[in-house]
Amino acid sequence: MQIDINIIYYFEKSIFVIDPTLKINETTQSQIHRHSVLIEFMDIHCHARVYSFQIKKCNNPTCPYYKPIRLPSQKFYDLSFLPDLIPSQNIY
Ligand SMILES: [Zn+2]
Repeated sequence: MQIDINIIYYFEKSIFVIDPTLKINETTQSQIHRHSVLIEFMDIHCHARVYSFQIKKCNNPTCPYYKPIRLPSQKFYDLSFLPDLIPSQNIY
């Protein structure tokens, strides 16, 4: 799988907006759990799994990271996180 370097750049830039005290070399769960602002953001907006990471707007106007949705509101509310991956039963 090829990862778009621009996505990584903008993700890193955005994560420092959420928690400017985060350091670029803090990458383990134990290090990240010391950043309560980031953890709170992730609890509300993210689904982190072994093989996937998803972010979704909360559409809560009181949220400090609030940006208006651009989808029709019904489509936004119908959106959900993708289901967790299930290992294949095919061993080949
Ligand atoms: Zn939010």
